[in-house]
Amino acid sequence: MHEALRLAYESSLAFRRGLPDRPVGARATLASLRATLGGPLGDAGQPPAQVIADLVRHADPGLMAEPGPRYFGFVIGGSSDAAVGADWLSSAWDQNSGLYATSPALAVVEETCARWLLELLGLPERCGVGFVTGCQMAHFTCLAAARHELLRRAGWDVEQEGLQGSPRLHVVVGDEVHVTVPRALRFLGLGAGRMVRVPADAQGRMIPSELAKTLQHLDGPTLVCAQVGNVNTGALDDVDSIADACALRNAWLHVDGAFGLWAAAVPGMRGALKGIERADSWATDAHKWLNVPYDSGLAIVKDARAHRAAMTVAAAYLIQQEGDAARDAVDWVPEFSRRARGFPIYAQLRALGRDGVAALIARSCALARRAAEGLAAIPGATVLNEVALNQVLVRFTPPDGGDADAFTKRVVEGVQAEGTCWLSGSTWHGLGVMRVSISGQDTTEDDIDRSVAAIRKVVGH
Ligand SMILES: *Cc1c(COP(=O)(O)O)cnc(C)c1O
Repeated sequence: MHEALRLAYESSLAFRRGLPDRPVGARATLASLRATLGGPLGDAGQPPAQVIADLVRHADPGLMAEPGPRYFGFVIGGSSDAAVGADWLSSAWDQNSGLYATSPALAVVEETCARWLLELLGLPERCGVGFVTGCQMAHFTCLAAARHELLRRAGWDVEQEGLQGSPRLHVVVGDEVHVTVPRALRFLGLGAGRMVRVPADAQGRMIPSELAKTLQHLDGPTLVCAQVGNVNTGALDDVDSIADACALRNAWLHVDGAFGLWAAAVPGMRGALKGIERADSWATDAHKWLNVPYDSGLAIVKDARAHRAAMTVAAAYLIQQEGDAARDAVDWVPEFSRRARGFPIYAQLRALGRDGVAALIARSCALARRAAEGLAAIPGATVLNEVALNQVLVRFTPPDGGDADAFTKRVVEGVQAEGTCWLSGSTWHGLGVMRVSISGQDTTEDDIDRSVAAIRKVVGH
């Protein structure tokens, strides 16, 4: 009975136990994965246990040790046992989570998580909260609410009339805006090419005085997108000053806080996020720094009425709750049927508690500073960013003083192949860099030191 599930469970445990010791990068090649995982779909089915056993055997060489302690690529957190356990249950329970009527337990778990999260992040208690797939869809959701409200104020019902013939809506972003914001603008019919860009400083922070100047030249409904946690440097925009500029023009302020918003959960770091509660909407992820498995993002909107108006749907066969009697998820997210992604967040928040969340964020930042110190001590290495959060950008000059871009790229590839840790390259202000992101909950000082030593060896010292 349930042999496939037993195998999946045991294989999951084996994978997770092996994380500290396996090479962090994938070992398989594209061709070998296609050979084992590809091929035609047979006419006859296979026993579920065999399907799972084959999947584990064939996928394993192509897996990255992403939840492991020395994965520093992109900005990708790990996943805790509590969150993964709850994620397994979400699948096993197979709850369609669009309505209270289809999963009363999930509806109450989501409303509870929403309250906990707003408290934890220091945001107003009456915000709308939607549990979406990631920060990309959180932007989409928040910016749909902004579009609704800004055009409503201009006398236009965008949900009914669409954008054809609507008043012009200005969108202002910092020069270092994350690519998911223009992508959300595309989906919303606002045009990625229509963004007005405000210059950013050397760390990638939008310059508030430049924003104020830009806003002076714009008339009509205006949306401003700020960012806390630049995907390269980790730098945080000065939200308080940006909110001042927005208030003068009655602009909607949206904050991309995919990972940086979590700094608000650390009492000692709140200063860096001064004014964060003055924004109108916030997009963040649970699957990054909170260490919840994919896919898990959060769309938070101060004006819950606008949030709901932009998302809700009505059909005769749906059984929705009257008013606020209970939570129907379909009111807060663009999805209809969806998995119960509130359970893993709920489990992780309970497992960590307020102190645990703060400790996780603070520890990652301390480890990033340790990594920066260690890396800076390698001959020829230069750390390019102020380590404000969990990101380190480092660049390597070869011993002969040659091409640092090409050498840094070779170091990144060499480290990926060596296997002690995994990180990726990026370009910062035209310079090739190695980007180190520390967001996994299991990373220790020893993992940082081992990784720095491995990088030093690849550099050749
Ligand atoms: C990761 C990231 C996003 C996109 O988040 P997804 O969860 O991958 O959709 C947006 N903005 C920033 C700053 C990010 O780091």
